[in-house]
Amino acid sequence: MANVSLKHIYKVYPNGTKAVNDFNMEIQDKEFIVFVGPSGCGKSTTLRMIAGLEDISAGELKIGDLIVNDMEPKDRDIAMVFQNYALYPHMTVYENIAFGLRLRKLPKDEIHQKVVEAAEILGITEYLNKKPKEMSGGQRQRVALGRAIVREPKVMLLDEPLSNLDAKLRTQMRAEILKLHAKLQTTFIYVTHDQVEAMTMGTRIVVMKNGFVQQIDTPKNLYNYPANKFVAGFIGTPQMNFFEGTLLKTGDNVAIRFENSEAKITVPYSMLYKAKPAYLDGKTKVYIGLRPEDASIAEENAKSGNAVIKVKVSHKEELGSETLIYGDINLDGDGYGESSTRIIIKDIGEREVRSGDVLNVALNLNRVHLFDKETEASVLPRIPEYNYLDCEVSGGKLKFLGAEIDLPEVVSCADLKGELLLPTDAITFNGNLKAEVVSCENIGDVNLLALTLNGKRLYAVSPDCIDGKTVNIGVDFKKITVISGGEKVVSPMPELNEFICKFVKKKTKEEVEINGKTQKKKAIRFGFEVGGNFFEASEEKSQKIFAALGIKKAFSTGLKLECGVYDLAVSESGIAASVIKALDYGNEKFLKCAVGENTVYIKCDEDLKGEIYLLPDFEKVGVVETQREIKII
Ligand code: ADP
Repeated sequence: MANVSLKHIYKVYPNGTKAVNDFNMEIQDKEFIVFVGPSGCGKSTTLRMIAGLEDISAGELKIGDLIVNDMEPKDRDIAMVFQNYALYPHMTVYENIAFGLRLRKLPKDEIHQKVVEAAEILGITEYLNKKPKEMSGGQRQRVALGRAIVREPKVMLLDEPLSNLDAKLRTQMRAEILKLHAKLQTTFIYVTHDQVEAMTMGTRIVVMKNGFVQQIDTPKNLYNYPANKFVAGFIGTPQMNFFEGTLLKTGDNVAIRFENSEAKITVPYSMLYKAKPAYLDGKTKVYIGLRPEDASIAEENAKSGNAVIKVKVSHKEELGSETLIYGDINLDGDGYGESSTRIIIKDIGEREVRSGDVLNVALNLNRVHLFDKETEASVLPRIPEYNYLDCEVSGGKLKFLGAEIDLPEVVSCADLKGELLLPTDAITFNGNLKAEVVSCENIGDVNLLALTLNGKRLYAVSPDCIDGKTVNIGVDFKKITVISGGEKVVSPMPELNEFICKFVKKKTKEEVEINGKTQKKKAIRFGFEVGGNFFEASEEKSQKIFAALGIKKAFSTGLKLECGVYDLAVSESGIAASVIKALDYGNEKFLKCAVGENTVYIKCDEDLKGEIYLLPDFEKVGVVETQREIKII
């Protein structure tokens, strides 16, 4: 029983393949986590790093409270089950299960008890004296599971354990593995390329692609709130329909126009509050995603609303309980091949449909998904990054949504009309604007508040659920952007500073006491060189650098020190900087400084001028290898 923590985990194979990039996840005790994605996406590599079968290039892996990066697999308290069972063919089932326990020199009667118990749990008691070759694939996989569970591991790792089995047996073994998980009350991490397996088994699923985590969420949330087109298309069968189109806002409505088709539907703008206005210009292309079950040919639905489009049927697949109707929203299209006008409809009605029919199809637009054409990220993210608002600056006051707020001097600008990008996390709860709370939705560690200010929508995030009727809000001005005439008139203050840095060793002479006498002794210290200064590195940090770069390359590799604005202090000595100006945001003050050619920002309440020295808080800094873009610390 253990938590597993992965922080900035990377894997770069010696041939340069970057198999895993910046994998971050906190796996809770007793969770059933599934890594899923197409072949080559890095899921096995991640699992093998957790098992200790593959070195970790950079990052920190913890099982329970222990950092296990350099721990031998056998000491990690994990057990692993592979696709090919990896049983010893010359041993009986009993011996196979007992093997690991015998190696660990457990008493014979204890081994016997564990083997019998495991066999019982897995229903293979009657096969204990058989050899693996006399057993079916499913039975062999049970033996492999038995061998893993007798070790009573803290974490069970399973790498595509069912992919050698036929479909029926796979379904059965899926249920058995779930039962086993419930019985053992142990953390399971399971790798599969099969999204159905992932959806039916995981308490949470990690979807991966090309070595990058795409989304980590519960099966339900992945299905309902895919973060991008890849996740949307990967989860769910048949696949989500993707059309290309544009969105045009007129008054309180938005027209969704489908490319290469006459189809056009109108939705209330309230459905698209979270979308960036630029998407609603009638020109910017988006992907329109709709699951087959959210399209229906039922006449009563088709009559009820304006979300109806015409579809020409090409063919269908009868599945018994439902029919998949394939068609095209381009009435000249053919609906057979995958295209941006092909539609699949999951129909559960009785109506007979023939090839060539033109149907009225109702779309459930409450469940529509929209994705950026270039980045493929959701246009309607669960937590929007910004509120995009029209604004006006006049006489040092910022006006938006009918409200007015004093602009601090540091962000003051000439009178203008423009656009305000107000991040959801820039809304504070201690200002003097009164907003109404419409809803509070808990999403992971934060709460998304839908507010109205003077009747207009505003999104904010808060660690606490605020469910009162009205709330006082303010603005964290250091996070806002104001755009006018295509120019950024106010830019947010960067919250992360970067310094060029190198890892160095320094020979020193240190005074030590030997037999009561003070003597000078040679020593070597490791540290970071930033702007000509040496900052000694803790042993832990040095180890991380050596582990990620190797002893030879540690001193010649270009590094970047990342340091938050709150993690830099003014000091007697340190990195030389010259103050460019003081930034007074009202409740907080900062200094903008030049360090060589770099500009850095630091939290400082004093109004300093001229030359100063900066001291990074090395407990909090990050270190990035510049060439491979790997976060080492
Ligand atoms: P998955 O389990 O998702 O199919 P893997 O983790 O096995 O993917 O592989 C991820 C990437 O790393 C792939 O591009 C694969 O070719 C590469 N890879 C895997 N093992 C090695 C290796 N030993 N040496 C070099 N590249 C490897």
